[in-house]
Amino acid sequence: MTHAPDTIVAIATAPGAGGVGMLRLSGPQARPIAEAIGVRAMQPRHAHYARLRDAGGEVIDDGIALWFPAPNSFTGEEVVELQGHGSPVVLQQLVARCIALGARQARPGEFSERAFLNGKLDLAQAEAIADLIAASDTRAARAARRSLDGVFSRRVDEVAEQLVLLRIHVEAAIDFADEPLDTLGGAQVRSGLVTALQALIRLREDAERGRKLRDGLHAVLVGPPNAGKSSLLNALAGSERAIVTDIAGTTRDTLRETIRIDGLELTLVDTAGLREGGDAIEREGMRRAREEMQRTDLAIVVVDAREPQAGRDAVGDSIAEVPQQLWIHNKSDLLDAIPSDAPADVVHVSAATGLGLDQLHARLRALASGSAGDSVDGEFSARARHVEAISQAIGHAERAESELVHEHLELAAEELRLAHEALGEITGRMSADDLLGRIFSSFCIGK
Ligand code: GDP
Ligand code: ZN
Repeated sequence: MTHAPDTIVAIATAPGAGGVGMLRLSGPQARPIAEAIGVRAMQPRHAHYARLRDAGGEVIDDGIALWFPAPNSFTGEEVVELQGHGSPVVLQQLVARCIALGARQARPGEFSERAFLNGKLDLAQAEAIADLIAASDTRAARAARRSLDGVFSRRVDEVAEQLVLLRIHVEAAIDFADEPLDTLGGAQVRSGLVTALQALIRLREDAERGRKLRDGLHAVLVGPPNAGKSSLLNALAGSERAIVTDIAGTTRDTLRETIRIDGLELTLVDTAGLREGGDAIEREGMRRAREEMQRTDLAIVVVDAREPQAGRDAVGDSIAEVPQQLWIHNKSDLLDAIPSDAPADVVHVSAATGLGLDQLHARLRALASGSAGDSVDGEFSARARHVEAISQAIGHAERAESELVHEHLELAAEELRLAHEALGEITGRMSADDLLGRIFSSFCIGK
């Protein structure tokens, strides 16, 4: 059941004082509310100077009002923007006045959600708005801007389209069950599927690059208990977030901290020390540590500089699958001198005294700037959920391929449907119903 949407209001500018502050209203009452506050004779997309008044007629502020009639607005609804002075007190008074006149305080993301529901943006584009706002450097901002412009969504739609056409062919062949697929253009379907798979694999690579641009480098701190992982996280983050103790095995949960090195984002995850045995909570912490390690870009291995070999033994092959590794010998303040036989790629630091932290920063900066690779044309931003959805689509398309080889047409058609559905999750665009509608409308088998 659908019912008429209510009218929402929120301050759209950043919290705090500023030269200008903006309030956004969206919904059927947007214009009447603006009029009740004092904006007169609004014309679409024209700036109107107005004195904005409270219930008693007293002026709260003066400013500019802009009316965007439905459906030609960001949300697709009636939208009014009120710009006043950027005083939190004034803006709050205006919000309260709008609420008294029948609006409701908007939830986070609700304007974008309405834009999505009204078909103004697809899901990936709506996510790109948040990514653009949060972008940590120009390259990430440019990539988010491209996703918002639909660059990523169009790539997804193109492959989705190929999958639909393939499925339509396979569905058609099912209705001629006596004929082998080859007489019905099977070779064409198979080569079409190979092309679609190649496109999916390229799309996943590009989305993965976009994800790294957005998320920055993700690193997990690993090493034996008491090596100083939590102390190092604190030293890097400059806070006391992780609990540091000298009882082995106290970091039972995983803790994460996002730090910025020259504008590049680095997420650090502190894990429970790798150690056999321990109590149930500690084992749970270690299970999570292993889980983190399956999806991280970098393992920062922290060992005690006084007994590096014992540290290496404790870590063992637990980090073998992580794409990049950085070895750190901590507690170097307790050494008389850095051993001359220490491997060149090891960074000697002391979380306690700050020794070697500059060098560690430099290494992390190099790793973070390299994580997304070099900038490429048409680069777009993406999220982990998008990469995951593309991987699922690839899995289904591969299964469709092998079902086709065995002439299992129903199973192949089902895998193609699932591949398409996985891609549809990225844009939120294509529901199962429209797909069926398209299949039935483009086919007239006569049954
Ligand atoms: P974790 O188990 O690997 O997270 O280790 P913690 O960060 O909890 O540190 C264990 C103990 O080593 C604490 O008592 C820390 O104060 C101490 N510690 C950590 N880093 C250093 C360091 O660089 N030098 C010295 N002397 N002690 C350290
Ligand atoms: Zn710890």
